[in-house]
Amino acid sequence: MSSLTSSSIDVRALREEFPVLHQQINGKPLIYFDNAATSQKPRVVIEALKQYYEQYNSNIHRGAHHLAAKATEAYEQSREAARRFLNASSIEEVLFVRGVTEAVNLVADCLSRAWLQAGDEVVISTMEHHSNIVPWQMACERTGAVLKVIPLNDLGELDMAQAEALITPRTKVLSVVHISNALGTINPVKELVRKAKAVGALTFIDGAQGAVHLPVDVQGLDCDFYAFSGHKVYAPTGIGVLYGRRSVLEKLPPYHGGGEMIKEVTFEKTTYNDLPFKYEAGTPNIADAIALRYALEFVEQIGKEAMLRHEQALLTYATDLVSRIDGLQVIGQAKEKAGILSFVIEGVHHHDVGVLLDNMGIAIRTGHHCTQPLMRYLGLEGTSRASFAVYNTPEEVERFAEALQKAVNMLR
Ligand code: PMP
Repeated sequence: MSSLTSSSIDVRALREEFPVLHQQINGKPLIYFDNAATSQKPRVVIEALKQYYEQYNSNIHRGAHHLAAKATEAYEQSREAARRFLNASSIEEVLFVRGVTEAVNLVADCLSRAWLQAGDEVVISTMEHHSNIVPWQMACERTGAVLKVIPLNDLGELDMAQAEALITPRTKVLSVVHISNALGTINPVKELVRKAKAVGALTFIDGAQGAVHLPVDVQGLDCDFYAFSGHKVYAPTGIGVLYGRRSVLEKLPPYHGGGEMIKEVTFEKTTYNDLPFKYEAGTPNIADAIALRYALEFVEQIGKEAMLRHEQALLTYATDLVSRIDGLQVIGQAKEKAGILSFVIEGVHHHDVGVLLDNMGIAIRTGHHCTQPLMRYLGLEGTSRASFAVYNTPEEVERFAEALQKAVNMLR
């Protein structure tokens, strides 16, 4: 594997669209392999932000003037782009949030006020990110519900027999990650949703990594909620999307109170706005929401399937090269895996690996990846993680593997 155009994507041309990639770090061309934490932004996204602030910055909805109308239109066009991206059936089911963290907090908080009761069970999994653990713990504390955790098998996949046993008529919520940020495992979320629905539970899918690497069809998945963060899918930070099934959102109470989410306010009583505005109190993150559309269209133009193939080819190549390093163990060997490579090396601390690679211009992430319970379960303090995006190349993978060998030689 050695060509920049070995997949159906012209990576060389595509890299030109990402200004940040063209720089030297510590005298070496930057290799950015920290995409699971956040991806870099293409020029169209950066330009969309600049255009908004230079040409039509304005608060949205209710505005009588030209700029307000233009900003409102762009904001709502972005909602439509997000609807298409997730294949939701209507824009009323597409809520703008800050990201997955806010989405889980929103859903867990609302369900704790209107759905969960003492003795109910919330089922999550061992591989969840902290943001899909802590809000549920808070909801359980508030309601007396109990958190149940699906264990993993030796490959780092969900133990589906145990999942089956844990999902019972007491289960009121199932909340699982689509793709693990720490292991790369792609979970069988459709099957899990089916099991949870069969016992009458509501379902939440954390799509922070899933929406980046896989085509998402919320109607096909039949989940009640699905969330992703813009910043991992080539959009700015501070904007994300929560899909919610209309019939569920209509029954739930609002999350935050304030402007925009109301129909009528008196000192005695307030009536709430229609969906999706009922869940968007206050002035939203207009600029980043508008730019999100350009990122989603950028992804759609390349095609999720082509991106996944490209990233999985990089993963296979990288796994093959780094596995030759003495004492290196890949953490997460699921049969279905996205472009995330976690590993530990005997006798070498992951933090030192990260620092030495950075000296050679290579950005990876090291540590617990906001999955402390998973690390504890695996008996690890942390891992080193290289995660791939559409603009990464086989040549970068080769330089990374060579640099990693060099780092290991220096540290041993
Ligand atoms: N879930 C997963 C699987 C993630 O990878 C992340 C981000 N690392 C999150 C949730 C939280 O996303 P955010 O910080 O954008 O809210």
